[in-house]
Amino acid sequence: MGTLFRNGTLVTASDMFQADLLVEGETIALIVRNLPSAGHEVVDCTGKYLMPGGIDVHTHLDLPFGGTYSNDDFETGHIAAACGGTTMHIDFVIQPIGGTFFDGLRTWRKKAGKACVDYGFHLAVTDLRPELMADIPKLVDEGVTSLKLFMAYKNVFMVDDDTLYRTMQVAAEHGMIVMVHAENGDVEALLTPKLLAEGKTDPVYHASSRPPEIEGEATNRAVVMAGMTGCRLYVVHMTCEESIQALARGRALGYPVMGETCTQYFHVTVDEHLGAPGFEGAKFVCSPPVRTPHDHEVLWSAVRDGTLAVVSTDHCSFWYDGGHGPWQEWAASHPDGDWHLFEQTPGNRRPGKELGKGNFAKIPNGLPGIEDRMMVGWHLGVNSGRISPSRFVELHCTNPAKIFGMYPQKGTLAIGAEADIVVWDPRKEHTLSAQTHHMHVDYNIYEGMRVTGAPEQVYLRGRRVVEGGDWIGEKGKGRFVHRTPHGAIL
Ligand SMILES: [Zn+2]
Repeated sequence: MGTLFRNGTLVTASDMFQADLLVEGETIALIVRNLPSAGHEVVDCTGKYLMPGGIDVHTHLDLPFGGTYSNDDFETGHIAAACGGTTMHIDFVIQPIGGTFFDGLRTWRKKAGKACVDYGFHLAVTDLRPELMADIPKLVDEGVTSLKLFMAYKNVFMVDDDTLYRTMQVAAEHGMIVMVHAENGDVEALLTPKLLAEGKTDPVYHASSRPPEIEGEATNRAVVMAGMTGCRLYVVHMTCEESIQALARGRALGYPVMGETCTQYFHVTVDEHLGAPGFEGAKFVCSPPVRTPHDHEVLWSAVRDGTLAVVSTDHCSFWYDGGHGPWQEWAASHPDGDWHLFEQTPGNRRPGKELGKGNFAKIPNGLPGIEDRMMVGWHLGVNSGRISPSRFVELHCTNPAKIFGMYPQKGTLAIGAEADIVVWDPRKEHTLSAQTHHMHVDYNIYEGMRVTGAPEQVYLRGRRVVEGGDWIGEKGKGRFVHRTPHGAIL
């Protein structure tokens, strides 16, 4: 019949209580005390927490970037996500320059053909030609209700203020949400060549090329436009005091603006990690850059007081040591997004971070983390007493579902919700390492970190996909989540 999770402690965004939970088919059928087993498959959850599956709303699987592609795809990235307790993510479809949104969607649907967990899509607008304005509302029919715009990466993804403002006007009219990568790309484009000309080419200078001021400035600009247009705004990967202040000011004015940070921005620092000897720092190159211990504390405060609503990863893994294989020839014969067919073996990898040896500006930007988010978030947040288990669930599962239009189908434990369930062992000890992780990448940014609290079993819509921390599910069973407009303002 069903699956009965017995004697666990349920953790939702609002409550913690002991109960039995019954799953029938793909959904939660009953939450009650002392349910007779009556032929159900019983999962003994004594001493364990039951939490909704994690939702990571910021990932880049199989992304073309910086002369290569991110190397986790919709199979390896999904399996890694599940092993870490994340059962759904939202990936960014990139509109090809000169193409339409639907061209981008087609490419990403193909990439996602082998999905192992559930997923949704945001649409990253890169080339908003006048004739495409009318296509924006059509995305709602496709279940894509969020648009992403880059205020950075000049001459690649960056849009100007005109485009950002007009997009917000249209989005507001149709209940869509606008997400921004907030860094002033014009200023960055002036700083980078100057540093390189001065011989400052090591990975650590990546941070000098993208100082916190340009993140704060761009955040403020987007926040003000959201206030003027009434568009829901979600500022992705916020890292520092300057941008948090800009967001807090907009929120105090009653603007519909929200913010996200990523797990690594609580832990990784410029001095210790990005500034590591040799080329090691390349492992930690992402944009915006990692910051200082002071900023870590600012982010924790923002998470506690509600200024920040979500913790995601911006998972975008590149090999530290790639570039051995005949990939260039291969890419030439498989144009336009067929990289998921490229077989990556130890001797045949996509190029990685080594592209930027001798020039930090050429290091592919991005860090792996989709598997580690829940464990590191729990360890640094809950075990330290900074946040409660319920706030942890809210930041990692529930708020993402509410903001992005899929609540209460996803993101909570409630009768009728999809049975994405993590059986979490708060006493389980685990050491994070590239030797044992499931992500398809040759390093781990938390290498050697010993965490307490990890998933024991993970269920995707009622089916067990992880047991004892390893994938046991059936591949290809992940499903696209069709999201609705008019999500929450939190
Ligand atoms: Zn990103």
